[in-house]
Amino acid sequence: MPTALITGITGQDGAYLSQLLLEKGYRVVGLLRRSASADVIGERLRWLGILDQVELVDGNLTDLSSLIRIMETVKPDEIYNLAAQSFVAASWQQPLLTGSVTGVGAVNVLEAVRIVRSDARFYQASSSEMFGLIQEPVQNEKTPFYPRSPYAVAKLYAHWMTVNYRESFGMHASSGILFNHESPLRGIEFVTRKVTDGVARIKLGLATQLPLGNLDATRDWGHARDYVRAMHLMLQQETPDDYVVATGRTTSIRDFCRIAFSYVGLNFEDHVVTRSDLLRPAEVQVLLGDADKARSALDWAPSVTLEEMIAEMIEADLARHRGQSRS
Ligand code: NDP
Ligand code: GDP
Repeated sequence: MPTALITGITGQDGAYLSQLLLEKGYRVVGLLRRSASADVIGERLRWLGILDQVELVDGNLTDLSSLIRIMETVKPDEIYNLAAQSFVAASWQQPLLTGSVTGVGAVNVLEAVRIVRSDARFYQASSSEMFGLIQEPVQNEKTPFYPRSPYAVAKLYAHWMTVNYRESFGMHASSGILFNHESPLRGIEFVTRKVTDGVARIKLGLATQLPLGNLDATRDWGHARDYVRAMHLMLQQETPDDYVVATGRTTSIRDFCRIAFSYVGLNFEDHVVTRSDLLRPAEVQVLLGDADKARSALDWAPSVTLEEMIAEMIEADLARHRGQSRS
């Protein structure tokens, strides 16, 4: 039975990846950072019904010795580095923390792997945010990067260190340049979940307005369940490499709102208000990925449409709010 170690197991992707790897017969171990709110830890794993099937070990991405200890005791065959300060907007408020977790933290994991488990396979969660101020209308593995936030700069450092460890030490280290991916388990601060949660609350009469920032930005949104399949496929390849994972369709926030509100029979223009304090100091206006390499080399393709994903997210948020109002 192969062993997988997942950093960021309590996040959206960590939960879906755990589910996938358990289905495939892996022993799944997750790195958990200590929190005073232990009672709410693992909410996403619980939602998927797998909390009691994964092993959780204490550690932190900023603490190299904890990572070395975990590599020694867990002896993973595959390591998925998903942990990060992952919210772009927060990275301007906490640029140093973002640099030390999202950037240097990834190198701590690489170092622990190099020192203790150099034959293990390593996945780095890179991001389409690295393309930032896009240099080509459709972005693939060869498109030059132009990061636009402290988050994207930190991710770019981690990305190049992954490439560097592969080239310097011959490590099986791959980087997935994933475009935005969402689900009912997406953090509430991200725009898709903020919208589907807002739609549910407005539909149930719990709110009337939804404040948003820039409605003109566009994103290439896929479903997290599809995207964790690509992560796993990358580590099953003979040779490590970098891959863009995307749907090839880009949609504005405005159109996302239009689809989401109309799903429950509402008009978004009656409820969405724009607020200047939700605008970002520097914006990534458009992202649109070309995943041809992943399609041909990994035989990967997305299976969920944007409309299907929005429906799933709204149904989950309606159920959550109905549940809350009952209690
Ligand atoms: P989430 O924000 O949902 O999860 C982040 C995870 O990192 C959580 O488990 C969090 O733990 C953990 N974490 C944060 N800081 C530390 C730390 N210092 N030590 C250990 N663990 C820590 O992210 P997603 O699941 O959405 O994304 C997974 C990865 O993929 C991230 O690296 C993200 O930046 C990247 N990515 C995501 C994309 C997306 O669209 N979702 C697109 C491209 C890349 P806790 O629960 O304690 O907060
Ligand atoms: P990101 O692509 O990782 O930054 O994912 P987000 O979901 O946080 O943001 C996607 C886009 O939505 C960005 O261009 C934001 O500026 C835009 N956006 C507009 N209003 C909001 C909002 O209220 N919250 C968030 N998170 N993003 C918003």
